[in-house]
Amino acid sequence: MAIVDRTRELERLAEERGGIGWGGRSAREMLAESERLFAETGRYFGIEELELKRNDPIRFEKLFSRLRGGLVSARETALNISASPIVKEIGELSFALYTPEGDSVALSTGIIVHVHTMSDAIKYMIRQGYEDNPGIAPRDIFTNNDAMIGDVHNADVQTIVPIFWEGELVGWAAGVTHEIDIGAKTPGSVPVGPISRFEDGIDLPAKKIGSDDELWRDHVLAGLKGTRTPMYWTLDEKTRIAGCHMVREAVERVILEEGVEAYKQFIREVIEDGRRSFQSRVREMLIPGRYRAPAFTENAFAKEEQLPSYARVDTMMHAPVEIRVTRDAKLEMDYEGASSWGYHSSNCTPSAMQGAVWVQLTQTLIPNDKVNDGAYLGLNTNFPPGTWTNHSNPQASTGIAWAFLIPSFMGFIKSVSRALQARGFVEEVLAPYGLTSNAFQGGGIDQYGRQSATTNFGLSCVGGGGKMILDGLDYAAAMWNPEGDMGDMEMWELIEPFLYIGQRVKPNTAGPGRHRGGSGYEALRLAWKTPFYEMQNIGNGRMFIQTGLWGGYPAATGYRHNVRNTNFFELVERREPYPTHEPDPADSELARMIEGERQFDLETTTLPEVMRQGDLYLCCFRGAAGVGDPLERPYESVMADVEGGYLLPRYAESVYGVKPGDVAKTDARRAEMREERGRRAVPVREWMRSERQRILDGDMIEPIKVMYAESIRLSESWAREFREFWDLPEDFDFDVPTPTVELTKALREQEATIG
Ligand code: MN
Repeated sequence: MAIVDRTRELERLAEERGGIGWGGRSAREMLAESERLFAETGRYFGIEELELKRNDPIRFEKLFSRLRGGLVSARETALNISASPIVKEIGELSFALYTPEGDSVALSTGIIVHVHTMSDAIKYMIRQGYEDNPGIAPRDIFTNNDAMIGDVHNADVQTIVPIFWEGELVGWAAGVTHEIDIGAKTPGSVPVGPISRFEDGIDLPAKKIGSDDELWRDHVLAGLKGTRTPMYWTLDEKTRIAGCHMVREAVERVILEEGVEAYKQFIREVIEDGRRSFQSRVREMLIPGRYRAPAFTENAFAKEEQLPSYARVDTMMHAPVEIRVTRDAKLEMDYEGASSWGYHSSNCTPSAMQGAVWVQLTQTLIPNDKVNDGAYLGLNTNFPPGTWTNHSNPQASTGIAWAFLIPSFMGFIKSVSRALQARGFVEEVLAPYGLTSNAFQGGGIDQYGRQSATTNFGLSCVGGGGKMILDGLDYAAAMWNPEGDMGDMEMWELIEPFLYIGQRVKPNTAGPGRHRGGSGYEALRLAWKTPFYEMQNIGNGRMFIQTGLWGGYPAATGYRHNVRNTNFFELVERREPYPTHEPDPADSELARMIEGERQFDLETTTLPEVMRQGDLYLCCFRGAAGVGDPLERPYESVMADVEGGYLLPRYAESVYGVKPGDVAKTDARRAEMREERGRRAVPVREWMRSERQRILDGDMIEPIKVMYAESIRLSESWAREFREFWDLPEDFDFDVPTPTVELTKALREQEATIG
């Protein structure tokens, strides 16, 4: 008899024993107790001694390894069920195991940002009384993709399965995949178009969708109607369920062999162990203090005639990120003073922000497999309501929550890197990552004459941040998935009606520095056998969205170069050469050789516009920031960059002071450049005086005034500090309207009235 059948025999209905929790309690009572004990003692479940770990350390490690192994193998096996390149090729999925209260015990590899978001979703179901209605029973299946409950955006769809042992809830298995299309207002999975939640696509706010290990038919049928890519949707869902069931079976095997009491003790201890080891990493690796690194991004929509007037505006977003390392080795992350949410899809929820902290921790302080919600317990966060980090508006869109989340996490990486450097862990220092863009995304009629949509996950291979001892990783990093992979071109060509004309490193995308950031790459795509495919662009174009470390420069901004109604096929017929890439936009074969209707500008975040057979789309992926003064970069490294196509020759001198072929002249030029810098510099006092005058005169573009006015009106403490720092009048404010801030205040009053 198979192990699954044997364990099923052991299951009894929850009703026979009262609550589904331990000892006849309800899951809600267990969660409340867990929170009470943590609040009272500062330790998970108030645990003082890690008895299992102390008395039988080998068994403790064995238990962990078997559960972790079960999770990793569930992921590696289940992803083969999927047909979506995002899941199958790139591995944009992960599985995790939770306690009955929803705290993560262990996780697989993959998009581990969701280990904490799924914890939020489980706790939501427990708090909302799902145990009584719609019921939580053995072999049930739940799903969620609501960022206000516990997710980043609708595209990340979660499957959650409770694990029972003899009628008692002993945990939850959960898995997530990023869908290729989510049925939003505009095609793809990170839609630029939505300005409200009602346009974000398929909406699954923590729902029960199956029982007896079978999906309910109504849910399956609704899924087929909800997206532009029903086949991927269906297979992804099977992937998640299969993985969850494999995780459940791994747990059951462990319980059969080790006994349920040992299992229960283990899942408590391993989280407290995770909390302690996180705290000791913080104590060991970081210098206590207050680290600050503000971040900004653009949202240029004034040009979008499809949008209603209230959304057709250019806005800027502000994140005054402060990281505090306390004396007792707590890590605190504070977004006090962030600007408002807006009528666009780049808003976030605390769950998304928490998830991102999580994945960043695994790439900095806890880069090992011994990571669970213990780390979350060692962290305090402040994402103020009404800001873009915590929109708190039941109607706001979160379709591309990553659009500012990623740039704002520059504040985290920079701060942690400074603290690591201060402690002497220079090998761990990392400059900010690249923005995972451009997103090649759209939908329409594909090369088979069928309706389809795509989000090309080549974007999970942008530049990694420069390091203190090495250059950043070239075209192989994504801040949200430590295992970024661009997938095979042939696989993307199978599902997208666009051929790859060329794909190669994009020069000058890396932020210069003594150690430069990782480079991005570019792909030139030819629309192929499609009568129409609506294509959009995502990414920064007008402003730098990151800074480097200790004199390192930010990565390049992006641009758009798409051409419609081209002469491409005429060139081919005449057997004349055609361009395959665009290393230098200032001297572009794409501009010289290809005729047509050209979009060659800084409009890098756009709503979809139609392309068809023969049109060309240049997809430029971003690089990352550098570390240290570029004038200190060794001559040989600069020359290698030029020869390898990472740096355009003319920048060897203008940025790095390198005279190709002449080391002595290089040294002389660098000395000269240092003097030029000195001549250009002004004393800080003078610079501050002139900047202060600009603030008083309102001498800045409207979006900047609105951005600061939002911060001032949403946060008294930030406003006070801003006024004090610039020595402004006590009631200083910018004379601009901030309608979303007013709405946030009205929503709060409304909430207070409703109760
Ligand atoms: Mn996602």
